[in-house]
Amino acid sequence: MQAKKQVFPYEIDETSYNRFEQKFNMIYRRLWDKSLPTYGKMFEYNIDKHINSGEDGYSRIDFALVAAGWTVYEKFPFAFTWRREDLMDIGYGVNWMRKKYRISDLKTFTAKVKKAAKFYGASLVGVANVDTKWIYKSGFIRPAATSETDSKEAIRKGDAPVSILETPIELPEGMDKVIVMAIEMDQVAISTAPAQPASAAAAVGYSKMAFAIACLGEFIRNLGYRAVQCGNDTALSIPLAIDAGLGALGRNGLLLTPEYGPRVRICKVFTDMPLITDDINLSFIEKVKEVCRTCYKCADACETGAITKEIDPTFEPASISNNSCVRKYYVDVEKCFDFWIENSGDCGNCIAACPFSKIQSFSTSSEFWK
Ligand code: SF4
Ligand code: SF4
Repeated sequence: MQAKKQVFPYEIDETSYNRFEQKFNMIYRRLWDKSLPTYGKMFEYNIDKHINSGEDGYSRIDFALVAAGWTVYEKFPFAFTWRREDLMDIGYGVNWMRKKYRISDLKTFTAKVKKAAKFYGASLVGVANVDTKWIYKSGFIRPAATSETDSKEAIRKGDAPVSILETPIELPEGMDKVIVMAIEMDQVAISTAPAQPASAAAAVGYSKMAFAIACLGEFIRNLGYRAVQCGNDTALSIPLAIDAGLGALGRNGLLLTPEYGPRVRICKVFTDMPLITDDINLSFIEKVKEVCRTCYKCADACETGAITKEIDPTFEPASISNNSCVRKYYVDVEKCFDFWIENSGDCGNCIAACPFSKIQSFSTSSEFWK
């Protein structure tokens, strides 16, 4: 097995860098940080006002589409599991699953694992060695075989102590590879941003993530190896995706892929399976650096000024919710989240506006429904 090592192509202040603590993510911070105007608020805030407004893209049908799009992500108890407690006999027997599959040709084997990832729904897939810098220092760990909805019920109600978000996170020993998957979001729906069909595209993207990681995790276990299935949890998805050759970091703070720009959701499966890693896409990273210096389309599209108009990336974070000590364009996610709450859903303006998203034509929400 080769041990390929590539230098991460972004400048990091290694002496000051600390692994990110998930409680600083805005989705969690709004639960405990009383200094935020969004403290205690979530998308339901304003929702009746929107539904009654008659505004295109904010009807009850639009919101029904969004909320239902989350179904698999929210309700499927096996989506984010770290292990298989017992071999489940679903009619194929289990004995053949116990031994490690003997890999005769690593290149062919890696290609088959990637094929499986795409078969289960990934639009793009890459493999990287695990860099522990990107693993959260601490965060929320879902109880085994418990859905997102059930595991976060108390947290979302504000009934759980902050300490539930501060569990130290360490991957099991030997999980040294990560398979990173990007899932394309619907082009027409995203083009309606910030209206609700764009939020629905994100919601369905999350459910597709849950499906893809669950199936890929089981595929890996059926071959006798271990798998840790993750959405946004456990580790920072964007640097892992960059390590896996999927793209570059844009001014909008998102992963830009050559194929779909930022119009993707990212999920990942950590494993102890031997796999050939992908090269970082250095030429695309250079291209994005050049384009972002003079483009500003995402910053112009952002209704709250959350995206910086600095010409060059800096080491200056916008708030404690940024993963700092990396030279990049920092997004003011506090301002971004203010708009999400106002909008009763996520936004997507900075995804739709990015030329790398390759949106052919922009639709209204009414046109989306035709
Ligand atoms: S999601 Fe919307 S509010 Fe947030 S940074 Fe992008 S454009 Fe701005
Ligand atoms: S819209 Fe322009 S500046 Fe923003 S991320 Fe895309 S290419 Fe970069």
